[in-house]
Amino acid sequence: MISELEARALDRAPVVLDSVESSYARRPAIWRGISAEEWSSYAWQWANRLMSVEALDNAVGLNADERRAVEAMASRFGTAISPHFAALFRPELGSHCPIRRQAIPIGAELDIHDDLLDDPLGESRHAIAPCAVRRYPDRALIYATHECAMRCRHCTRRSRVGLMESVSQADLQNALDRVTANPNIRDVLISGGDPLSLENDVLEWLIASLKACPHIDVVRVCTRMVSTLPQRMSDARLIDVLRKYAPIYVNTQFNHPFEATHEAAQALAALRSAGCILGNQSVLLKGINDAPAILEPLFRWLLREGCRPYYLFLCDVAQGTHHFRTSIQSGLDIMRSLRGRLSGLAIPHFVIDLPDGNGKVDLCPDSVVSRDGQSLTFHNWFGASVNYRDVE
Ligand code: SF4
Repeated sequence: MISELEARALDRAPVVLDSVESSYARRPAIWRGISAEEWSSYAWQWANRLMSVEALDNAVGLNADERRAVEAMASRFGTAISPHFAALFRPELGSHCPIRRQAIPIGAELDIHDDLLDDPLGESRHAIAPCAVRRYPDRALIYATHECAMRCRHCTRRSRVGLMESVSQADLQNALDRVTANPNIRDVLISGGDPLSLENDVLEWLIASLKACPHIDVVRVCTRMVSTLPQRMSDARLIDVLRKYAPIYVNTQFNHPFEATHEAAQALAALRSAGCILGNQSVLLKGINDAPAILEPLFRWLLREGCRPYYLFLCDVAQGTHHFRTSIQSGLDIMRSLRGRLSGLAIPHFVIDLPDGNGKVDLCPDSVVSRDGQSLTFHNWFGASVNYRDVE
């Protein structure tokens, strides 16, 4: 006979997505005349990104605070939003829409905080070449491009992304030379910026060079485009490149269930068809996804689409992101709530990437509530206290 507490916990209904929409069906009035074929074109989506006050006003409207922030950020970390992502805004939620908040700057982004950093992960301190970083013995990151489909307002690399000219071929070659010359490096992340914004030939050259290196076991591509511009994955040549060098590990970034669209599901399916191994890295963002009822359906959907929730990051200490920061305790409370409600396959590691490049640390809800010698008491997923006798 199970306890009443356990029975109540077992009876709680899962939180699932009611429906998954297509961004095309949701497109704002300004794009009503666009055909489905144009909408599904990567080139059209890229060329029609919203990057100016006028374009934003025409497509999604700006309030006074947003307009001031867009203008003030133009020469620093500007604004760029694909039509696909803009179509996911919920007008009824106004400036509180969790999709809008990730894409359009607000005045709080202009505030300077002494405890925030321009280079929160200490990547300049750990650079082994102008475009390569090594923070762990067996891993390296190649910063392959300054471009992205979208300028995410919580971006860690906002002091570099979108600001400079494209990364030169010489810098990329230098990064490859440093990484392939070090036999301790076994796992390489191609990142940026978003590496899927590279020309297919450049991406193939990078992947092929790394795959040809005998000591590199793992090549990872970190991209947010599966959420922000999934039409990129309808490029058959890109999928062929990824298939040719399979398995490639692809790290996506979905932060909210509103990003779960038909287009994104198709993009994930295309990546799976190329033999990619998919993992998602969400960022815990205040007022956007800092609640179990938001993350649970997102993680369920990702798992269903073959993309395992891998990391949930505490927001990095990047200058301009103070308003997105949550406390560690609120993240721990979310993780405790998800445990038992979701399969372990759908529960990411909750981690903090320590400032100044000091590495990731797992943050786990403390399940041991007391300990007396070999006798421990645990708090389990439905809140019961359970005794356990450890071995010597
Ligand atoms: S896609 Fe990644 S690198 Fe680009 S702006 Fe967003 S978080 Fe930053």
